[in-house]
Amino acid sequence: MDSLLNYYNVPTTCVECGGVMIFVGVGEYHCEDCGAVAYDDYGKVRLYIEGHKGATAADVEKGTGVSQKNIMRMLKEDRIEVAEGSRAVLHCEMCGKVLKSGKYCPECAVKAHRKIEEQQRALLHKDMKVYGRQQEGEEGQRRFMRKH
Ligand SMILES: [Zn+2]
Ligand SMILES: [Zn+2]
Repeated sequence: MDSLLNYYNVPTTCVECGGVMIFVGVGEYHCEDCGAVAYDDYGKVRLYIEGHKGATAADVEKGTGVSQKNIMRMLKEDRIEVAEGSRAVLHCEMCGKVLKSGKYCPECAVKAHRKIEEQQRALLHKDMKVYGRQQEGEEGQRRFMRKH
């Protein structure tokens, strides 16, 4: 099962010396002690795509060992883009339009953003109500304590 925090297989310890791996940027990590270089899934995919323009998700999976699930996740998170003329296809989750990256086309992104804002506002409202109730509970408890 995927770890929520490390689903891109971020290297944390050096395979050469067991030292601590330090993030240096775009999916690349260097060992604090011996300077060995390692990549997380994103770094591996980035490197592969740089050398293999127009590669399909299957090509990338074969070349890097990174699962297609993670490759699709990177596309949706806007970390990588589908190359021009690539066979890998990504669709807008709302209207189904073909995309290069991300979850939504620009039009649906605006709609989705509005929806998220509404949801957040509704959540905030709910939190405030819960908070109010907790306050009442505390008041009641304090009165109870005083009696003893
Ligand atoms: Zn090392
Ligand atoms: Zn759309």
